[in-house]
Amino acid sequence: MAHWHSNPEIVVIGAGAAGIAAGRRLAGRGRSFLIVEASDRIGGRAHTVEVAGMPLDLGCGWLHSADRNPWTRTAEAAGLTVDRSPPAWGRQYRDLGFSREEQRAAAEAWEAFDRRLRESPPPSDRASDALEPHGAWNAYLNARSTYVSGAELDRISIQDMLAYDDADSGANWRLPGGYGALIAATGCGLPVAFGAPVERIDRHGARLRLETPKGALSAQAIIVTVPTPLLCDGGLRFDPPLHDKLEAAESLPLGLADKLFLALDDAEDLAPDSQVIGNPRSQATGSYYLRPFGRPLIEAFFGGEQARTLETEGEAAAAAFAAEELAGLFGNAFARRLRPLAATAWGSAAFSRGSYSHALPGRAEARERLAAPVEGRIFFAGEACSRADYSTAHGARVTGIAAAEAALAAVPGQ
Ligand SMILES: Cc1cc2nc3c(=O)[nH]c(=O)nc-3n(C[C@H](O)[C@H](O)[C@H](O)COP(=O)(O)OP(=O)(O)OC[C@H]3O[C@@H](n4cnc5c(N)ncnc54)[C@H](O)[C@@H]3O)c2cc1C
Repeated sequence: MAHWHSNPEIVVIGAGAAGIAAGRRLAGRGRSFLIVEASDRIGGRAHTVEVAGMPLDLGCGWLHSADRNPWTRTAEAAGLTVDRSPPAWGRQYRDLGFSREEQRAAAEAWEAFDRRLRESPPPSDRASDALEPHGAWNAYLNARSTYVSGAELDRISIQDMLAYDDADSGANWRLPGGYGALIAATGCGLPVAFGAPVERIDRHGARLRLETPKGALSAQAIIVTVPTPLLCDGGLRFDPPLHDKLEAAESLPLGLADKLFLALDDAEDLAPDSQVIGNPRSQATGSYYLRPFGRPLIEAFFGGEQARTLETEGEAAAAAFAAEELAGLFGNAFARRLRPLAATAWGSAAFSRGSYSHALPGRAEARERLAAPVEGRIFFAGEACSRADYSTAHGARVTGIAAAEAALAAVPGQ
């Protein structure tokens, strides 16, 4: 347990990927610092759990832009296995319920949509306004958006979406030992005070005063890494308020993506690392990764409104929905081979309240406004602050390091 009463020079709020990266950059630089974390664990939306002997990533799982992702280098330096096999996304296993022809037509519909976004973007900046009216694959395009952004296309800024796509290297690798486990391991040894949600930041005085249910502490500079919903709904309040930050955070809500892990009996008759989409004609459908790393399980992924509905209805309803979609593809007997292992509910997780950020139409510039420092002593980091790598664990890390450097420059060493 870190020293609560020391009133450090720099406080980092939040011990997710951004906060940990900030803490590591601050360490050994001659300034006292403390990471204050609301929950009782390190990692935030990076969270690996061990179930039935398997490390399962409840949050981030893919090293996106893996060939330029700094977490890849961290994993390699630690001697961890990095699985470089390409993802199975976009290829329907055995063409079940989705013929080759249909898969080609759906892929072409996405490409044509992407061309319209780039070549003739609607003035609204609203991605859904670039859909073909009554397009045969519009539901499929929306479902894809819910997996990528956690929200349907009518909530998505085109400018923001293209900034990400243009920066994406296209390499997506995985860590069999868990992405969350890697990120948490890099936080080992950092001074973290757990179970201390910062509720109010008083900026009247020469030192910033942070109030938590555990008591108050003060700091010369702070790095705020909390997810955007926590800045919007009073989870963390500034006094006097920072209206610009509030507006920026509201422009960058977290979309919702949830995972459900299902144990699969007699798994060997399915090819490892393959994938099916439940119903390519529906917006409200799951994507199912079959036997990831050859393991005897199926990782179901739900996004947007469908994820919200299933979260509200509960884990049993999500498992029943997945079993029904999979039985529709593999036959009725298939459902009996499935058993729920773990499920997420990121929308109702008290200190996340969603999965990853997207910009609302016309609000892409909010990322820079969210990231801008205040009074030369309040610095912001976290995935939502990244202009082009938002929504990812590597984007979070890079913003954390930048904020730490800025805080070091603001607080002269002894
Ligand atoms: C289902 C799912 C799948 C994902 N898949 C991928 C993927 O494949 N690849 C990828 O790169 N990314 C993925 N992501 C996104 C990735 O996990 C996040 O972008 C990243 O982990 C965010 O890091 P962060 O530090 O910005 O925020 P967080 O991890 O949310 O860290 C913020 C921390 O602040 C704490 N906190 C909140 N409020 C307070 C308060 N008031 N006081 C103190 N502490 C507070 C929280 O508890 C948390 O620990 C996924 C996320 C989810 C949910």
